[in-house]
Amino acid sequence: MFQKILIANRGEIALRVLRACKELGIQTVVVHSTADSDAMHVRLADESVCIGPPPSRESYLNIHQIVAACEITGADAVHPGYGFLSENAKFADILAAHNITFIGPSGDHIRIMGDKIEAKRTAKRLGIPVVPGSDGAISDDKEARRVAAEIGYPVIIKASAGGGGRGMKVAHTEADLEVALQTAKSEAGAAFGDDAVYIEKYLEKPRHIEVQVFGDGAGRGVHFGERDCSLQRRHQKVWEEANSPALNAEERSRIGGICAKAIADLGYSGAGTIEFLYENGEFYFIEMNTRLQVEHPVTEAITGIDLVHEQIRVASGGGLSVRQADIKFNGHAIECRINAEDPRTFTPSPGTITHFHTPGGLGIRVDSGVYSGYKIPPYYDSLIGKLIVHGRNRVECMMRLRRALDEFVVDGIKTTLPLFRDLVGNPDIANGDYDIHWLEKYLAKGE
Ligand code: ADP
Repeated sequence: MFQKILIANRGEIALRVLRACKELGIQTVVVHSTADSDAMHVRLADESVCIGPPPSRESYLNIHQIVAACEITGADAVHPGYGFLSENAKFADILAAHNITFIGPSGDHIRIMGDKIEAKRTAKRLGIPVVPGSDGAISDDKEARRVAAEIGYPVIIKASAGGGGRGMKVAHTEADLEVALQTAKSEAGAAFGDDAVYIEKYLEKPRHIEVQVFGDGAGRGVHFGERDCSLQRRHQKVWEEANSPALNAEERSRIGGICAKAIADLGYSGAGTIEFLYENGEFYFIEMNTRLQVEHPVTEAITGIDLVHEQIRVASGGGLSVRQADIKFNGHAIECRINAEDPRTFTPSPGTITHFHTPGGLGIRVDSGVYSGYKIPPYYDSLIGKLIVHGRNRVECMMRLRRALDEFVVDGIKTTLPLFRDLVGNPDIANGDYDIHWLEKYLAKGE
């Protein structure tokens, strides 16, 4: 087992990882920018190293500084959290070259999944169902027209190097295709320095369903069921559930089994999430994330298994603590992402939190790095906390969520709490009846 883990992240996830390390009796080092000296994870860590000024490029993304911090403190492993360097293959390679363990998959696996065309090809080869579309990058208009005619309109053009919902364009008819292709290519070139794009069938009313997987790196793979993250705004997840209200047990074990086998065949190591669009009973792979997800606590709530413990165990060579048969799904969980944003316009609202009171009681978990008197710096994303609620079934979970949202107090800044108070009373949400466009439509109506 590791002696000392360096946490290369900030905010709630830094604290989340720190808690797991403490439970396992592992020493902790955190790195932070000058803007985060007052952060909770900095206060609670055994050691901390300031690695640079506020901009992420010069601190949380500064590989040299982070490696130096490992050497100075004698850390033998790095947990990257999510975002920042968590899916940076070069970072994983550099750490390996310094004999420091990256708590995540190999650089090669990160590289494959970071390129969407390559990821889709690999998924297909491993028997994972994919969205019908071009077999690789599209080179010209003629090829685009041929593929689109074959799969049928509407189609979506996506950047191979894409991420964060950028570089995607929908064409509803052949007349739209040329413009969509050109815009997608130039946006992709400008945003990612790579203008390779591909085409796939545009699904009109899908749900976003993702499967949590784990590999031990030695040919064993398991799945921890799925999460439904269909409630999104601008491709950003807002509310997540486990299990999905749309799947039955047979579908769950079928898609989970396919994913677990794929992970085993790939020789993958650590946590991963295989993301699908789901429509009319069919699953369509869109991408794989090679890291821990923001929404992992809903899976922890229904399985009772600490996924960060598992990540650390696997990375240290101790293997997974569970076999597939040990992973049972108990009840229902929902997570609300609480952002420091205006609940209607979603403009960021940094500033000082004058009062912070979190709900409690059975089935409630709040993961947050903020506290009363904390000043939210304006440099990073606006997530200030996550409310995770567990109940014996979805109805109980929703009742408890409503109560927990009423108890939650964040004064001094605007947050998205009022949005969740509206959502929890909405009949479509109560029925679990929503697709990936539901939230945008709801917000546009201004209800
Ligand atoms: P990114 O890595 O940029 O987040 P994804 O491939 O994960 O890109 O897609 C992000 C979102 O875009 C999906 O959650 C979905 O809302 C939409 N999307 C992607 N592919 C399709 C498709 N083929 N049909 C319909 N919507 C899609």
